[in-house]
Amino acid sequence: MKIENESDKINITMMKRTLVLIFFTGFLPIVFSFIPYEKKSKTIQTIIIDPGHGGKDGGAKGLMSTEAQICLEIGLKLGKAIENNFPNVKVLYTRTTDIIPGNKPDKNQGLRYRADFANQSKGDLYIAIHCNSNGRRAGGWYEKRVVDYTYKKVWIGKGKKRRQVTKKSPIYQSFYVENKTVGTETYIWAASKIDSKTTSINADPDDFSGENDSTIVAPDLNDPVMKAFQLLYQKKYFQNSLLFADHVEQEFASSGRSSRGVKQRNQKGIWVLQATGMPSILIETGFITNKEEEEYLNSNDGQEEIVKNITDALRNYIAIMEKQPLNNNTGNKIPEPKNVQSTSAILNRKAATAVHDAIS
Ligand SMILES: [Zn+2]
Repeated sequence: MKIENESDKINITMMKRTLVLIFFTGFLPIVFSFIPYEKKSKTIQTIIIDPGHGGKDGGAKGLMSTEAQICLEIGLKLGKAIENNFPNVKVLYTRTTDIIPGNKPDKNQGLRYRADFANQSKGDLYIAIHCNSNGRRAGGWYEKRVVDYTYKKVWIGKGKKRRQVTKKSPIYQSFYVENKTVGTETYIWAASKIDSKTTSINADPDDFSGENDSTIVAPDLNDPVMKAFQLLYQKKYFQNSLLFADHVEQEFASSGRSSRGVKQRNQKGIWVLQATGMPSILIETGFITNKEEEEYLNSNDGQEEIVKNITDALRNYIAIMEKQPLNNNTGNKIPEPKNVQSTSAILNRKAATAVHDAIS
């Protein structure tokens, strides 16, 4: 365009200003309107923390503490750590005091409340915190064993049949057996269909989980609601649950804990995992029946380490979910998943990689 005179120049300047104004007042708000949208689209907005047991359901017993008490302490610390590390994430607890959640009269109603609460709160991730027990006396127990025999000559029979024989009697010694079972386990629900990715997760018949007495409510898979949950879980939540669970166990192993791996228990079921419409895991943070591990579970350092392990696993999980590496609060980049074979006995690493690839 050829500039004819001064007034045309002024007109062009005004036009430019108007365009700039339109840009800033019109276009930019449109641009910015996508930012909150971006935030809303993050995978994890709400995390449900479920400290196991509570109230008259104390869970497994140790020498100096109950499972319910440790679960609450770790659960509350975990919630605080998540809020500090992920300010956009809302943390909700099924209980924050020593009660059966929802003040329900018994543990089974409490279990239903836990799942209902998670679903109604529209959680994106459900983390149940528990301690393990191997079903034996906490600390250890006395057993008797035969260490030798005594041989004594005794008379038997009467009259002509009376004769002398040697009687063998065992000598017993009492000895103390330490309750040595240790380590962490993370449970997921593998639903019922076994596909190529789930075959390597064993329903471990020898698992020591102390949840037999309290967390199990057998689900009725003929119930259409449960059936729907099962299908949804298989389709949408299984892979995410496995991914997160695997990261949690890797973090435990990296701190020197004895990781017993990712496990599923489909036969007996774990209600809180099956009835929650979101990726869900149940962490057995250690054996309350092992004297040393119970001390660790009760100590501030131990609890802080467990919380850090779960938070680090969560950071990796969220990064994979959102396909963008997040920086942790030390400013370091997230390390690549560690090549820890901690779960090899239970969880085939190939399956975890396949799941990882499928998701990321
Ligand atoms: Zn428990």
